Amino acid sequence: MKRRKILHGFAQAFLALAVLPFSELAMAMTKLMKSKSEWQQQLPAANYAVLFKDSTERAGSSPLNDEKRAGSYVCFACNLPLFKSELKFDSGTGWPSFFDVLPDAVETRRDFSMIWPRTEYHCARCNGHQGHLFKDGPQPTGLRYCNNGVALQFIPAGEKLPELRT
Ligand SMILES: [Zn+2]
Repeated sequence: MKRRKILHGFAQAFLALAVLPFSELAMAMTKLMKSKSEWQQQLPAANYAVLFKDSTERAGSSPLNDEKRAGSYVCFACNLPLFKSELKFDSGTGWPSFFDVLPDAVETRRDFSMIWPRTEYHCARCNGHQGHLFKDGPQPTGLRYCNNGVALQFIPAGEKLPELRT
């Protein structure tokens, strides 16, 4: 491994530490492998449909659109923190939107389910589908993470984050 890559790895780990206690860090970095039928049993139908069947919630349907309090947004399926309130902005699209994501919290793939290709992103830990990434967001990143509200759970600042689901 190149020295620069190692240093980058340390920096990422340090940023992740700022969010998660050390004991949970190793677990957060490990993939949670579960079958779709297991998830189907553990999640309400609407959340399961978005997270593991790539469904999209109706625009304007999520109470998280109007959520303005300080806090964290964790994956509804596995509880991995994905976003902080400081990264949220009002996109006017009807879906909770963020201009950045916590380090290593999501992975992306090209999605060809529509006529034009889009960038899909999902929770890096459980692979649960979260939303699509667009390049029309505000500065400093210019990115817009267009997220399904049912794929997230909001935890107000000062409340304990839920334990990572196993
Ligand atoms: Zn997850």
